[in-house]
Amino acid sequence: MAPHFSGPPPERGLFCNRTLNMRAIKAVGYDMDYTLIHYRVEAWERRAYEYIRDRLVEQGWPVADLTFDPMLAIRGLIIDTAKGNLLKANRFGFVKKALHGSHPMDFESQREAYARTVIDLADRRWVFLNTLFSLSEACIYAQLVDRLDAGQLPGPMGYADLYEHVRKNLDATHMQGRLKAEIIADPERYVIDDPETPLALLDQKSAGKKVLLITNSEWAYTEPMMHFAFDRHLPEGMTWRQLFDVVIVSARKPEFFTTRSTLFEVVESNGEALLRPHSGPLDKSKPYFGGSALELERHLGLSGDEILYVGDHMFGDVHVSKNVLRWRTALILRELEDEVRAIAAFRATEVRIGERMLKKERLEAESCQVRLELQRRRHQYGPRSDGPEGELVTRLTELRAELEALDAELGPMARAAGELSNPHWGLLTRAGNDKSHLARQVERYADIYTSRVSNFLFATPFVYLRSPRGSLPHDPSIPGGTPVFTTGDGAGSGPAE
Ligand code: IMP
Ligand code: MG
Repeated sequence: MAPHFSGPPPERGLFCNRTLNMRAIKAVGYDMDYTLIHYRVEAWERRAYEYIRDRLVEQGWPVADLTFDPMLAIRGLIIDTAKGNLLKANRFGFVKKALHGSHPMDFESQREAYARTVIDLADRRWVFLNTLFSLSEACIYAQLVDRLDAGQLPGPMGYADLYEHVRKNLDATHMQGRLKAEIIADPERYVIDDPETPLALLDQKSAGKKVLLITNSEWAYTEPMMHFAFDRHLPEGMTWRQLFDVVIVSARKPEFFTTRSTLFEVVESNGEALLRPHSGPLDKSKPYFGGSALELERHLGLSGDEILYVGDHMFGDVHVSKNVLRWRTALILRELEDEVRAIAAFRATEVRIGERMLKKERLEAESCQVRLELQRRRHQYGPRSDGPEGELVTRLTELRAELEALDAELGPMARAAGELSNPHWGLLTRAGNDKSHLARQVERYADIYTSRVSNFLFATPFVYLRSPRGSLPHDPSIPGGTPVFTTGDGAGSGPAE
């Protein structure tokens, strides 16, 4: 029996928004950072944060005492660069929670600032935290807003100028070699090893799929990192270079999916990587630089729905490849493992909340009826019952007291629900009782989503992933109605090939 036949733990499932038959996929493209290679987020982001901070100190800003707070931001939040706020929005773009700088906004100021606002990410005012690489940026921005408010930063400067300044320094941190040189020198400190990832790719390759690497990282970083993460877990004598049919570095996603850029071959000479313009077929044994997805499709002789692209960047990897080229898409969301565990641990309380809410709705409905009855009596219109008015008034008072008692019970439970995983922000995929803005984007652009690439190992390269039956308020789905995936040949489970 196959070692993983019993299926993965729930948090390592492949979750499906749109049905995907892996047998129909001819090529699987992978992003590298936070996809094939997962970093210790706190270590990487703290280091990136320190680089930005130290650059600001060099520019004379009094910020040497600032330190990275890993809980201040989560992926999927939105920076309001006009007001210096960090926001969590629901799927419609309404703001549900807000920090100004690093301080929670009270209900009244939040309402005043956002009651009439619907966030549209196409507007440059809003910056969506697309990836775990965004956490350092969000954290330092929030802390700098506090300093700006306190009049401690060089001025005059607005919140939007401050954001531009942080962004410029973050870009520079990623581009200049020092941070990456540190990581290459001590990968153990920054990378979480996952021996199952190379095996999952080997399974896909052996099943006849082309395996591609398309990363924004430069060759000088990609090569040592892939060597570190892959080579020791591959069969004797095999290196990561033999695993991939195409390797493209410095891909400049999302432009890679939208624009035809020149393709270069990376030529290594005396330890230096030189670029030589390339045209014609791609050579498996050579790494390439730049180019475009259209050129890649032509080289592979495949159309968009035969290619699955797997990445962690909500916009650059998943949104654009789906929107522009209709590639099949998989989002890697490592936080999902915590999220699924937190949801499971909270399940009993969630059930209690559900029971109390049902009771609350019944009491509210009765209270509405009693009020209406009293109103009709007072204004003498419409059908009315007999019986003394005093009884109705007493009942209304009783109902009010029962509802207050229920609210007192519900309050702490609802608050706890809003603080799961992170005390400021709660779960990634929820905003109040609704889906979060991130969850909505995942739903729209990612055909499937999962916590890590090695989860493909459990599913096998032959899996037929089915989306659950969609629910609507008038037509709720049946709990546990659809399996996450089916392994094996699953008679009657999909179109025969
Ligand atoms: P990928 O995820 O494999 O496509 O690569 C991500 C690359 O983009 C890494 O080399 C990161 O250092 C780099 N990167 C991530 N965030 C930023 C940023 O905000 N500015 C510039 N480069 C970034
Ligand atoms: Mg990435």
